[in-house]
Amino acid sequence: MTYSPPVEDQKFLLDHVVAIADLLDDRDLVAAIVEGAGQFAAGEFAPLNRIGDETGAKWSSEGVTMPPGFKEAYRGYVEGGWGTLAGPTEHGGQGLPLALASVVMEDLGSANMGFSLVMMLTPAAVEALRHHGSPELQQDWLPKLVSGEWTGTMNLTEPQAGSDVGALKTRADPAGDGSYKIKGQKIFITFGEHDLTDNIVHLVLARLPNAPRGTRGISLFLVPKILPDGTRNDLRCVSIEHKLGIHASPTCVMAYGDHDSCTGWLIGEENKGMAAMFTMMNNARLNVGLQGVSIAERAMQQAVAYARERVQGSREGRPARIIDFPDVRRMLLRMKALTQSARALTYYCAGQTDRGSLGDEAAAARADLLTPLVKAYGTDVGVEVTNLALQVHGGMGYVEETGAAQHVRDARISPIYEGTNGIQAADLVGRKLGLEGGEALRRLLADIRADSGGEAELTGLAVDCAAVAERMLDAGPDDRLAGSYPFLTMLSVAVSGWLMARQAAALDGHDGDPAFAAMKRAAARFYLDQVVPEARGLKAAASASAEVLYSIDEAAFAA
Ligand SMILES: Cc1cc2nc3c(=O)[nH]c(=O)nc-3n(C[C@H](O)[C@H](O)[C@H](O)COP(=O)(O)OP(=O)(O)OC[C@H]3O[C@@H](n4cnc5c(N)ncnc54)[C@H](O)[C@@H]3O)c2cc1C
Repeated sequence: MTYSPPVEDQKFLLDHVVAIADLLDDRDLVAAIVEGAGQFAAGEFAPLNRIGDETGAKWSSEGVTMPPGFKEAYRGYVEGGWGTLAGPTEHGGQGLPLALASVVMEDLGSANMGFSLVMMLTPAAVEALRHHGSPELQQDWLPKLVSGEWTGTMNLTEPQAGSDVGALKTRADPAGDGSYKIKGQKIFITFGEHDLTDNIVHLVLARLPNAPRGTRGISLFLVPKILPDGTRNDLRCVSIEHKLGIHASPTCVMAYGDHDSCTGWLIGEENKGMAAMFTMMNNARLNVGLQGVSIAERAMQQAVAYARERVQGSREGRPARIIDFPDVRRMLLRMKALTQSARALTYYCAGQTDRGSLGDEAAAARADLLTPLVKAYGTDVGVEVTNLALQVHGGMGYVEETGAAQHVRDARISPIYEGTNGIQAADLVGRKLGLEGGEALRRLLADIRADSGGEAELTGLAVDCAAVAERMLDAGPDDRLAGSYPFLTMLSVAVSGWLMARQAAALDGHDGDPAFAAMKRAAARFYLDQVVPEARGLKAAASASAEVLYSIDEAAFAA
């Protein structure tokens, strides 16, 4: 099954949800990028999806070898300049909107999710370096990261430091010449080692001697595999993990400073590493949310194709294909509606980020508020849609032959990494709810209510969200956290429902493909009539206190 890029939906969203014309006044360029990215991803990356899963990345003491064809495909990505789209112009980037780069990232993720991770993390490293690195570091390292000639990684996790990054122990000692000696072990490092490029630039969180405890004592370092003089740095990939999915993405245990001579350079200020890492993480969180959209799109396309072919039973006296049955249609339309809603939310957030970078403070606050929603809702959609796609295949979905199972396995990591979805929910009710004293959220909900196209359930959901939020602002931390996940889902559906209603309204006068317009109308209708009311049903869970959760002793869970 090949991948067919959803070019029409992508362009429609850029026009009507992102309002890309405000950000880039060149329709032809937008169309060329959207169409070209789709062709590239479908032609070069999608055919490698299966081999990436079956063969996977291989470790030896010499390094990590990617499956056949990956090196050439990566070269095509670099030569096509695909990684440079949103990169800084002063370092070889094209300075185009993030919303447009998001389309490219979505296509790459649909075509080959495991592989796309290396393309996702490098721009995130570029963001951290361009906002926090010294001019010298930027000059030395950014051009080849922007072009994709070198790749970047993100090193937070250690065995005892997962969600609690503040518990990390990797050390950085000043070497006396402006550089630092890095020593420690990191786990779960995506593309920590590979054979796609000559150099890998690791962004590593570490602790200086006598640094304050917790996240206030963490600094960020640039630690290259190959040093500027061409010699190898004292770091190595100890092993890679055997895991459920994304086999094309090597997940590495990294050892820094086995011989006490691993060199790194400080990015930003001492003990301010979390600020720099957050720049990187916010970019990566948006892209992980997008991965949910990517994998949902790929799985959904496959399910639609299968449902149109598989003959089973009869309907109205004639042999039926399974797409003729109401329950299969329900699954297919739900997949369409969820995928389109998560795409709309993600692109909208990218567009707000773009406006924020141009100095629009309200848009920047909105992007900040929406980022945990994009990450968690997008990836939850990815998991649900890939599961539905497998279900549509019946037993053939459960065997590996059709490829439906690979999408389920690949999608499953996305609610876990880049801050679990539970941590996203905590971020929403902890930091984001109180942005501008709660005004950022109030403005968002007011916009939804004012522009809900007369959709009573949607207006009701926005009112419910406002009531839960006001209650949470007055509640203690445990009570807020107890309802955080259902609240995150409610709010995500409210924003996505609003964007779906706006799209349906924008169809009036649409002169594109009538089948696309018909599907968009049906997907919006389904979402507003069936998904929005489900989210309203979460109000009780979002409003519940933590009382029942702590009414039992820990041991009772094992009873
Ligand atoms: C394939 C893969 C690739 C990865 N790539 C990278 C990478 O490139 N770089 C990197 O640094 N890391 C990477 N990671 C690590 C990943 O980010 C962590 O696994 C993730 O942050 C969760 O940490 P943990 O596994 O230690 O789980 P824990 O922190 O032990 O969490 C376990 C469970 O407890 C919950 N939990 C924990 N703390 C809280 C809390 N305070 N409130 C509510 N719930 C909580 C979590 O939501 C989760 O459900 C990767 C992991 C995998 C599996």
